[in-house]
Amino acid sequence: MQTPTNTHQRIPAKGYAVHSKDGKFEPFAFSRHPVGANDILVEILYAGICHSDIHSARSEWREGIYPMVPGHEIAGRVVAIGAEVSKFKVGDYAGIGCMVNSCGECEACKKSQEQFCENGKTVFTYNCLDYFHDNEPHYGGYSDNIVVSENFAIKVPQNAPLEKVAPLLCAGITTYAPLRFSGVKKGTKVAVAGFGGLGSMAVKYAVAMGGDVAVFARNENKKQAAFTMGAKSFYTSTDTPKERFDLIISTIPESYDVLAYIKLLAYDGELAIVGLPPSAVVPKIPISQLVYNANRKVYGSLIGGIKETQEMLDFSLQNKIYPETELITPQDIDTAYENLTTGKAKFRYVIDMKRAN
Ligand code: NDP
Ligand code: ZN
Repeated sequence: MQTPTNTHQRIPAKGYAVHSKDGKFEPFAFSRHPVGANDILVEILYAGICHSDIHSARSEWREGIYPMVPGHEIAGRVVAIGAEVSKFKVGDYAGIGCMVNSCGECEACKKSQEQFCENGKTVFTYNCLDYFHDNEPHYGGYSDNIVVSENFAIKVPQNAPLEKVAPLLCAGITTYAPLRFSGVKKGTKVAVAGFGGLGSMAVKYAVAMGGDVAVFARNENKKQAAFTMGAKSFYTSTDTPKERFDLIISTIPESYDVLAYIKLLAYDGELAIVGLPPSAVVPKIPISQLVYNANRKVYGSLIGGIKETQEMLDFSLQNKIYPETELITPQDIDTAYENLTTGKAKFRYVIDMKRAN
């Protein structure tokens, strides 16, 4: 890892990129913008693989920006800091999630809901142009380093298990935020639909917040794991549960019957949708069915702001809530994507960036 000798120097980086929606991952050399006064340079040690990486790399939501280096579940070590950085020093651990910058001035940014920047200046970690650096494409975490404004880096204590911290930066915050938004507390009946990377975190947080938790999965493969995490019931899509739920979180990344879940809500119950199926197969809800199944609420949730991400990380470490992870090498990324789309994956693959060739 090279440390810049002055703040005007671009930072050389080595990552893994796809060059088209059908492409395989290949080593990719590029450079990042210089370390500005408020920036930190982070040596990436671990990068989680989120299903959003697959949707993006395969242009399933919209045409991607290629070459694309995905990865927004990043944990690493600070190796250089800009002149005005106060939150980090060299040697600290840092986490970086789905955003690396925003305008900082609009109402949303002031409320630390930077993902909703009203000036449209949220810079997502990859597959996005960097509006603050000549609109160059931003590259993600399947890489040996990243330069980020200190305001968008999460403080990680020195004793934290970094490979478990990485997935918290997206899977953690994306499930923690709606559970808090819906006010889960002791006795809240929570169901989690889709039991993968996000779903397993939703189960663990909901249990920690006192909820009675049910899991809906495609098959019984991970039934035991659900009970080990504290779930009280487990269903597959062919089951017809009798119980009703105060909150259902859907993390399903494919087409599915949304109405079937709305029908499982208690009166006044809420369906929080975080799963983002490909645009070609986005499920539709007939509005007449919202009327016939009335007085239940449906809302979407998009990651979480930086302040809440720090809160989530602190909550996770205090309560020892960690993802189930499987470490892989960068050479295994294509296989991991294949497994995640064919039902062969367990929970979260994490790339050990130090095992790059
Ligand atoms: P994973 O692939 O890790 O998990 C998805 C899970 O859904 C798998 O366990 C899969 O089952 C299960 N599943 C698939 N189809 C069904 C179905 N019909 N019924 C029940 N379960 C089903 O994905 P992630 O958890 O990483 O991501 C989930 C989704 O969330 C993605 O669409 C992703 O883009 C989105 N996302 C949204 C964010 C937001 O801010 N809103 C942030 C991050 C991610 P199996 O184990 O059998 O394959
Ligand atoms: Zn993600």
